[in-house]
Amino acid sequence: MRKLKVGIIGGGIGGVALAAALRAHGLEAHVFERAPAFGEVGAGIQMTPNAVKILRALGIFDALERVSFLPQNIIGRDWRTAREMWRTPLARDCPRLYGAPFFHVHRADLHRILLEKVDLSKTQLGIQCTGARQERNTAIASFADGNEFEADVIVGADGIHSTIRKSLFGDEPPRFTGNMCWRAVVPFDTPPFDFVSPDSSFWLGPKGHVVTYYVSAGKAVNIVAVMESKDWVAESWNVPSTREELLTAFRGWHENLQKLFSRTDEVFKWGLFDRDPMPAWTVGHVTLLGDAAHPMLPFLSQGAAMAIEDGFVLAGSLADTASPAEALRRYEALRRPRTTRVQLESRERGRTYHLTSRFARLKRDLGYRWRNLVNPQSSGLGANWVYEYDAEKQLRTEAVGQPA
Ligand SMILES: Cc1cc2nc3c(=O)[nH]c(=O)nc-3n(C[C@H](O)[C@H](O)[C@H](O)COP(=O)(O)OP(=O)(O)OC[C@H]3O[C@@H](n4cnc5c(N)ncnc54)[C@H](O)[C@@H]3O)c2cc1C
Repeated sequence: MRKLKVGIIGGGIGGVALAAALRAHGLEAHVFERAPAFGEVGAGIQMTPNAVKILRALGIFDALERVSFLPQNIIGRDWRTAREMWRTPLARDCPRLYGAPFFHVHRADLHRILLEKVDLSKTQLGIQCTGARQERNTAIASFADGNEFEADVIVGADGIHSTIRKSLFGDEPPRFTGNMCWRAVVPFDTPPFDFVSPDSSFWLGPKGHVVTYYVSAGKAVNIVAVMESKDWVAESWNVPSTREELLTAFRGWHENLQKLFSRTDEVFKWGLFDRDPMPAWTVGHVTLLGDAAHPMLPFLSQGAAMAIEDGFVLAGSLADTASPAEALRRYEALRRPRTTRVQLESRERGRTYHLTSRFARLKRDLGYRWRNLVNPQSSGLGANWVYEYDAEKQLRTEAVGQPA
């Protein structure tokens, strides 16, 4: 069978995960990234068991484990009192229940480790893609410098403002979700366990929530602090902020958060955007992956995990058939139902986390406690259905030509 050649637009986590998975199958992957150097924003990322299973299949589990922090639990806490609403065990239960651990990683570490599995001689940096089209059986990407690249398949892994999406489906800007967030990473020589517990802590308050967790093998704490807001500076989706602005926005929240926020140095502010699920991702031999296909709110911590799953399933589908069209049909059939559910449930979590009425919050918290007694994995985030997914198994069982 002739090996397919794939052009990947965008070298973020999704693009490099796809390139690594294609290479593992012996397929030719070319990555085109507009930034002058590979890199990632200075922030943490939660790698949940569904994604860790794939990273293990790509042969990078040990490297990942070395730079990760293994959280004990996901704990839901009241914004003001730190009272626990739920406790979902992770370190103890994830390998047994879901087949892999739950890791906290610095994004730059994850990106670097994935890149080690990519053929760097086939990557180009500082090159801006302007669109993609199909001519007969060839997919063609065009670039701002006037060059073109021909391949069997072109994949737009170019993020939420995807140029490839625009060239396939028109220019519809993503939706501002009414949430903005501050992100910061606070380095520590040794973990300050007295005021940041070794967990993924979700602090829920009116109109906002804060997530804190260790990254870099416990040498830093990642902060994601979300607050509802009516407006956002439209030109940019992330801008520099300050420690003072962060402290002001979360005035009155628990003293452990104030203590942590007062140690921040570099703080960034993001507008959180998403889209409605798309009815299709593919035109001919050109398709989308990751945030280009299904940008979502980060409230289930799944955007990058979904991009990694997409890459693995797409590479597996392309390896199983010489027909790009068939592989892309199978890819969409396997991926769209899952990413649609994750997109919509991530939105729904925002509503539940940010309740303002005292009565509604009391009812929600009682629900969390009750479910925590019955089955802690179904409480809080209620993401057990996300974590148990096994992409390798799905590729094995839902073979080429079989309806998904
Ligand atoms: C606050 C916050 C917290 C999050 N936490 C988590 C988490 O804990 N777990 C998780 O799984 N996900 C999380 N996410 C989601 C995750 O960050 C994204 O879903 C993920 O990074 C998307 O990866 P991607 O490769 O699809 O897109 P991107 O990371 O956006 O990469 C796109 C790449 O394409 C390049 N590019 C764009 N246009 C062009 C062009 N025209 N030509 C060439 N190159 C181009 C860009 O430079 C970029 O490198 C979080 C997101 C936010 C905002």
